[in-house]
Amino acid sequence: MKTKKVKSAGRFGAGYGIKIKLKLNKVESKQRKKQTCPFCKKSGVKRLAKGIWNCSKCQKKFASGTYYIGE
Ligand SMILES: [Zn+2]
Repeated sequence: MKTKKVKSAGRFGAGYGIKIKLKLNKVESKQRKKQTCPFCKKSGVKRLAKGIWNCSKCQKKFASGTYYIGE
C-alpha cells in the first residue's frame, strides 16, 4: 500500500513538472517578446506593474494580463 502510493505520487510529480516547465517556457517567451499597444499598435509597451502597461507613444495606460498583453 505504502509502496504503491509513493510510486504513483512519483509518476504524477514527474508529469506535473514537465507540464509546469512547458507552461513557464511559454510565459517566458511571451514576456521576452515586445508587447504591442492595442491603441496605436506600437511595439515595446512597458509594464509598470502587475497587469498595468504603459505605451510610450500614445501615453496610454491600460490593464491587461499580468505578465503579457492579451489573455
Ligand atoms: Zn500606444
